[in-house]
Amino acid sequence: MQTERWKISVGGIVQGVGFRPFVYRLAGDRALTGFVTNTPEGVVIEAEGQPSQLRNFLDALRKEAPPLSQVGEIVAGPISLLHDNDFVLRHSTVFGPVSTLISPDVAVCQDCLVEFFNPVDRRFRYPFINCTNCGPRYTIVLRIPYDRPHTTMRDFVMCPACRREYDNPSNRRFHAQPNCCPDCGPQLGLVAVDGQRVAEREEAISEVVRRLANGEIVAVKGIGGFHLAVDAANGQAVSRLRRRKKREAKPLAVMVAGLETARKLCRLETMEEQALESQARPIVLATKKEDHGLAEEVAPGYDQFGLMLPYAPLHYLLLQGPVRALVMTSGNRSEEPICIENREAEERLAEIADCFLVHDRGIHLPCDDSVIALQGGMVRQVRRSRGFAPKPLELAGTGEMVLGVGAELKNTVCLLKGKQAFVSQHIGDLKNLEAYRVFQKSIDQLASLFEINPSLIVHDLHPQYLSSRWAEEQKTVPTLAVQHHHAHLVACLAENHHEGPAIGIILDGTGYGPDQTIWGGEMLVGDGSGYRRFGGLESLPLPGGDAAVQAPWRTAVSYLFAAYGENAPELPFMADHDCGMIRSMVRKKLNSPLTSSCGRLFDAVAAMIGGRQVIQYEAQAAIELMQTAEGLGEEVFPCEVYEENDMLKISVRSLIREVAQAVQTGMVQGEISRRFHAGLVAVFTRVAEEARRREKINTVVLSGGVFQNRLLLEGLLASLDRVGFEVLLHKELPCNDGCISLGQAVIGRESLKKG
Ligand code: ZN
Ligand code: ZN
Ligand code: FE
Repeated sequence: MQTERWKISVGGIVQGVGFRPFVYRLAGDRALTGFVTNTPEGVVIEAEGQPSQLRNFLDALRKEAPPLSQVGEIVAGPISLLHDNDFVLRHSTVFGPVSTLISPDVAVCQDCLVEFFNPVDRRFRYPFINCTNCGPRYTIVLRIPYDRPHTTMRDFVMCPACRREYDNPSNRRFHAQPNCCPDCGPQLGLVAVDGQRVAEREEAISEVVRRLANGEIVAVKGIGGFHLAVDAANGQAVSRLRRRKKREAKPLAVMVAGLETARKLCRLETMEEQALESQARPIVLATKKEDHGLAEEVAPGYDQFGLMLPYAPLHYLLLQGPVRALVMTSGNRSEEPICIENREAEERLAEIADCFLVHDRGIHLPCDDSVIALQGGMVRQVRRSRGFAPKPLELAGTGEMVLGVGAELKNTVCLLKGKQAFVSQHIGDLKNLEAYRVFQKSIDQLASLFEINPSLIVHDLHPQYLSSRWAEEQKTVPTLAVQHHHAHLVACLAENHHEGPAIGIILDGTGYGPDQTIWGGEMLVGDGSGYRRFGGLESLPLPGGDAAVQAPWRTAVSYLFAAYGENAPELPFMADHDCGMIRSMVRKKLNSPLTSSCGRLFDAVAAMIGGRQVIQYEAQAAIELMQTAEGLGEEVFPCEVYEENDMLKISVRSLIREVAQAVQTGMVQGEISRRFHAGLVAVFTRVAEEARRREKINTVVLSGGVFQNRLLLEGLLASLDRVGFEVLLHKELPCNDGCISLGQAVIGRESLKKG
C-alpha cells in the first residue's frame, strides 16, 4: 500500500501533561516516522506510514491520551512525503502565543506514591514528588508558555539526575516542569509562632505529627494555600481552633488517609467514593455515621461531614501518625481568602496556629479546596476550585471574547474565548480586601494564560458591588449590567448546551432587581437574549436588611405581621425578642427593603417553629430546618397564587399562616418542615405548569443557592418530571453564585451578536 504523510494538529490540554512522549510512543508502536512538536496552535505532529496505521494512530491519540490531558479538536490532512528515518520529539522553537491549555492541579499519582513509599527510591518520603501525570499546575504558573522558568519552580536548578529524567522522552518525568528531588528541590521547615525555625525536612514532619497528636493547631502549606490542621477526634483542640478562627459552628472539612477510614465516618454511595478518589480530590459532603468517633465540634448540628483524601504527598505523611482524621480547614481568618505566602501566613494566622509547616515552593494563585455533593442522582459542585479550575467548560456556540466579573459573594470570574468558558477558582466575598485583590489577580492571570482580550465586561446590575465598580473603572472596555437571576438562568442553559427559552425557577438569598427591590424567589422566562419576570414569591419587608439575614427571628416577625396585620398570633419564639421594635420598623417603612428572597422565607419558617433564631453561618437556619424533615410526606401546606401587575405571585403570607397555625396546634417541627417543603414543591410545580400553558415552553431550569437544599431539589425535580417537564440542572458549576460569572458572560456575548 502507498505510504502517506499526515499533518495532525491537536488542541486542548496537551501541554505539560506528558502528551508529546505519549505521541512518540504511539508513533514508535506503529512504525511511523516524522516528528511531534509544540506550536502556538497546540501540538503539531507530522507522521508518515501506512494509511491504516495512520488512522489507527489518530484514533489512539484521542482514546489513549494521558490522564491529565484533555484532547480538544484534532485536525489531520495529507501533505507531501519527506521519507524521514525515524520519529523525533522536536523542541519547540517558536516562542509566542500558545493556545494550549494549563491543566488544573492534580493529586499525586499512583506511580509517584509507589516511589514515595519505597525506602530505596531517591524520592522516598519527599513531599514534592511529582511527574507529568500529577502535581501542581494552575497554582504555580506565572505565565505562558508553560515552561519551568515561567513557574514558581524557576529558582530551583535541577540536579543531573532530575535533568536526565526531564530530558528523556521515555521517562515519566519528561518535561515535567515541577520535577525535583531532595537534592535540588523545595524543602519543608517548621516555624514556631515567634518566627524561629525549629525543625527541617524529616524532622519537621515527625515534630508536626507529634504536635498534632498533642492537639496543637498546625498551619500547613499545601497546593492552593495553607490549611489549619488539628486532630478531628480531639474536641478541645477543635474548639480551640473554632474560637481562634472565630468560626463558631460552620462545619469543618476532614481529611483521612483512604476510603477505608472514610467509610467508618460516613455512609458512602459509590459515586461519592469515586469522587473522593478522583484526581481533583474535592471535599465530598456525605452523611455521617452514628458511631463516627470524631469530635462533635467538627460539624455540630449538621448531618454530614465534608470528607477528603490526601492530595499533596505531604498529606500522606501527616496521616501516618496516631491521628487518623485531621480537620483541614482553609488557612484564613473567617471569610478572608486562603493564605499562600509563608510570611503572610505567619502574620495573618499568628493568633490561630501553634506552629507553621512551611516550604519554599511558591504558590502563585490561591485555590481553595473544591466542595461537591451527591444531589439529584449526580455529583454536583458546591464550590468549584482546586482540581477543577481553570479547566474550561465547552459551550455550544462561539462568539466574541467576553469577561463576566460575577456576583459579590461566592465570586468567580469567567472569560469566554471561542467555544470555551474559563471560570476561575472560587474567590469568595469581595467585600473583603484580600479577596478583592485575588479577584483582580485572577482576571489578569486567566486573561494572560489563555490570551483573552475581552471586548465587553459584564457585571451585576447592583451598582455598589465591588465587581460592578471594578468593571466600570475599566475605561477602555465597554460594559453591560445584567440582572442576577437572569445570569443564574442563562448559566444553567449554557452548561446544558440549551438555547432556551426556558422557565427559570431561580431560588436564592439576594439579587438586585431592576425595580430596586431585593429579588430571590423568581420565576423567569427567558434565554441569553432577555427575560421576563413571570412570577415568583411575593415581596415582603426585611426589617434591618442585612441585620435580618443574621437574625431570622426578625424576618419571622415581619412576615407574621405581613400575614396577619395587627392581629398576628403570639408564637412561643416571640417571647425572647423585641417584636414591637420590628413591627414599628415595618410600619414606618424604616430600613425595611422589600424582598422576594427564598432564603429569607426559609429563615422565617425556621425561626417561627422554634428553630435557629440567630445564625452563625450562611444558610444555617435553612439547613437545620431541612434536616428536621427527614424526607417529604404526602401532606402539604397549601399556598395561594394570585395575579398582580402581570405576574403570578406566590403568596408567602398564606404559607406563613399555615405554619403559624401548625405551631399553635402543637405540630412537631419535623412535620411542619415536611409540609412546608412539600408545599413549595407543589406550588412551584403548579406555577411552572401555568407558565408552560401560557408560554408554550416545556423546559425548566433550576438554579440559585437554595437548591443546595437536597430535599427541595430532589422533590421539585421529581415533581416536575412527573408532569412531563424537561428539567435542566447545573452540571459543572455550583447552583449558587459561583455560576453567575458564566451567565453574565454568555448574556454579554448574545448582546454583541444583536449589535
Ligand atoms: Zn506522578
Ligand atoms: Zn534533583
Ligand atoms: Fe444568587
